[in-house]
Amino acid sequence: MRLKELHCPTALLPDGWARDVVIKFDEAGWIRSVRTEVMSWPAVSAAGPVLPGMPNVHSHAFQRALAGLTQVAGPGDDDFWSWRQMMYAFAGRMTPEAVEATAEQLYVTMLKSGYTAVGEFHYLHHQPDGTPYADRAELSRRILVAARRVGIGLTHLPVLYAYGGFGAQPPSDEQRRFLNDVDGLGRILEAVAADCAQDPQLRLGLAPHSLRAVTEAMLHEALALLDRLDPSAPVHIHVAEQMREVMDCLVWSGQRPVAWLLDHMPVSERWCLVHATHMMPEETAALAASGAVAGLCPTTEADLGDGLFPVVDYLRQQGRFGIGSDSHTLVSPADELRMLEYGQRLSRQRRNVLRHADHPSIGRGLYTAALDGGARALGRPIGRIAPGYRADLVVLNAEDPLLFGKSDDAILDTYLFSGGPALVHDVIVGGRHLVQAGHHPDEEAIAARYRRTMERLLRQVV
Ligand code: ZN
Repeated sequence: MRLKELHCPTALLPDGWARDVVIKFDEAGWIRSVRTEVMSWPAVSAAGPVLPGMPNVHSHAFQRALAGLTQVAGPGDDDFWSWRQMMYAFAGRMTPEAVEATAEQLYVTMLKSGYTAVGEFHYLHHQPDGTPYADRAELSRRILVAARRVGIGLTHLPVLYAYGGFGAQPPSDEQRRFLNDVDGLGRILEAVAADCAQDPQLRLGLAPHSLRAVTEAMLHEALALLDRLDPSAPVHIHVAEQMREVMDCLVWSGQRPVAWLLDHMPVSERWCLVHATHMMPEETAALAASGAVAGLCPTTEADLGDGLFPVVDYLRQQGRFGIGSDSHTLVSPADELRMLEYGQRLSRQRRNVLRHADHPSIGRGLYTAALDGGARALGRPIGRIAPGYRADLVVLNAEDPLLFGKSDDAILDTYLFSGGPALVHDVIVGGRHLVQAGHHPDEEAIAARYRRTMERLLRQVV
């Protein structure tokens, strides 16, 4: 259902909380006007406090199918690399239908938890033996179909992946589905570029997988190709997630990955450095000064034993960040932001660590910073309830006892630290009222298809 206007008893606007807000939308899903302290309002009134929807900057949709299947001890010490072997084995079984069904189910779950846009870092391109599908962009199109059917905003980031390690090392057999040279990736980008350009819910970008997977020359070539399509399109890259990666980069180049990237590539506000977990203080300062967004995925980074991003130093230097659910063991902005703060509390034995200069509420500071950084990383006009932005809104449930008697920033602190996705009542994306009282109109059909997909996938595993 497309809304024309919405009354909000209270809403978080760019200047702060406001009462009796009426937001008007146009047919194409843009916010046209926002008025506050309105005395009479239209028939549709929100069921509780209204927030800007949260961008999710980092997703590998197919990995949602692995949730709960990697928490089993292996024969030796488990770490990121042993997890990666399990993930590769699973990736090899994904058919185009399974990719689409998993993405649809994931995107419904995202909406219902409060994410209204996602950056899909998409590296599953080819058939299991590495042969391209008849349509080279087959799996990219499946992602676009899933996002459109569910209604979530999408920044599609086809991944350039060519090598198995620093210095153009040969890839392994399990990586064959991911591999493209720059021309091959260009064909995928070009195949979906028109779709993305014509739809305000979509944006196209590029994701060189990591410094392990590309060469310096390829990176320059790929950026030039992207610039020809869209010179402001987002660029995302995994960097410095694991210490082994940092050590390998030092052996290869004499520099750590973040330092190398900042020295050799035109890293700017259009870039999102995903993880960037292991940095020296100089790298943290330089990343903050670059204007790029750090794409933080705290629950995945905890699950994979990556380490803690130096978030206190980074925020002190006005570094920007967005949040992502990455491997999707958990799918909720509240879980990511709470984990970001709790990681610091546990390691420092202190409370309320990530303080924002303007907001004593930890929830308010984290939520607004992740909106700003997330919108920038996804390259779309989202993250603010203001004219000229997409009408992407999350309505919390005022009838949930957790919110009784609470107002303003206490609402956000309750959502992030206590209520989580259970507090999300309605979700509006591009002016479409997609989740109503916790229910998406296609969720039964999507879940039925996902059930069949999972039963097939797990039968193959066993
Ligand atoms: Zn990732």
